[in-house]
Amino acid sequence: MSDAETLFERIIAGEIPSEKVYETETTFAFRDIQPQARVHVLVVPKKRYRNVAELAAADPQLLSDVLTTAAKVAELEGIAESGYRVVFNTDSDAGQTVFHVHAHVLGGEQLGFFGR
Ligand code: ADP
Repeated sequence: MSDAETLFERIIAGEIPSEKVYETETTFAFRDIQPQARVHVLVVPKKRYRNVAELAAADPQLLSDVLTTAAKVAELEGIAESGYRVVFNTDSDAGQTVFHVHAHVLGGEQLGFFGR
């Protein structure tokens, strides 16, 4: 297992510092270290799955928990009304670098079109 695979588990465990935004029994939300928007928060399930497809197949309730936490983060960050984006980068072509599934919650400004 590479460092990249354990990074978020170490953040959840508090072994690597992070700026926590919200936490539930099953999920953890913290600010992205390299924000791509005014608000950029990552939401991870405490139990590690490689990507959103594996999470959806293995534990749909936990995927639902991640999305519920993403919505709560949007409320706490004051962007629930203005709008926001929830992104799961999945494997190579999407540029996934940390193989512990995470939702990017992005907002706080007008977001540009993306795709390429
Ligand atoms: P990408 O790196 O291309 O955005 P991912 O979707 O795998 O791919 O996202 C990993 C995210 O984790 C990145 O946005 C990165 O800035 C963030 N990140 C990496 N290390 C840390 C850290 N120690 N604390 C907070 N966020 C981190």
